Amino acid sequence: MRLILIGPPGVGKGTQSALLVQRKGLVTLSSGEIFRREIDAQTDLGRLANRFISQGQLVPNEVTIEMMAKRIGQLDVMKAGFVLDGFPRTIPQAEALDELLSDMGKPLDKVVSISADDEIIVARLSGRIGCTKCGEIYHARNKPPKREGLCDKCDGPLFVRQDDRAEAIRARLQIFHEQTSPVIDYYGEKGLLQLVDGRQDPETVFKVIVGEIGA
Ligand code: AMP
Repeated sequence: MRLILIGPPGVGKGTQSALLVQRKGLVTLSSGEIFRREIDAQTDLGRLANRFISQGQLVPNEVTIEMMAKRIGQLDVMKAGFVLDGFPRTIPQAEALDELLSDMGKPLDKVVSISADDEIIVARLSGRIGCTKCGEIYHARNKPPKREGLCDKCDGPLFVRQDDRAEAIRARLQIFHEQTSPVIDYYGEKGLLQLVDGRQDPETVFKVIVGEIGA
């Protein structure tokens, strides 16, 4: 199964891709996660990406496409199929991905678009807390950790993403509407799109996705 999860920031793509990994054994590639790991490791790519990410801006297409093409080309990822989370986010990225996958003879099976209104997104992102070790996601009001600052699952330290600050959230939403919405239409025209209502609770969204992709 070669699948894309697309939708605004904070709609639940990360949560759903984690569930697809845990329960269905799929391999996920999250462009945001890969960038955050590069930032933590203080690589050249990480330093470059951080200039954009900390402001809520997109990392330039050439940089993102090169990084993702390298990961997708890795054999272990291709064998099991993959779920792409956060990529592509622009039309040039979608076109580059199409070309790459068609060169590999491995076209996409489905694109799942998870949607929710801007007010819901803002409420979810302001308050989001993540685990630096296992990636578990909490929320200050809706799903607080049992012990402040520590992950319930792995005891790892929790953190608030720099791009979950109010101005960065607004910038990310605007970019989503301007640059990523056309990507959803692009896949709609190709007949690959499945729409899922992201206002529902994560377990319900997961059931719908599994039903749609037949996993
Ligand atoms: P995410 O974890 O998917 O919300 O991504 C966090 C940030 O990483 C985004 O706000 C962008 O700054 C950057 N990023 C992630 N994926 C992409 C992409 N496909 N194109 C450009 N920038 C990206």
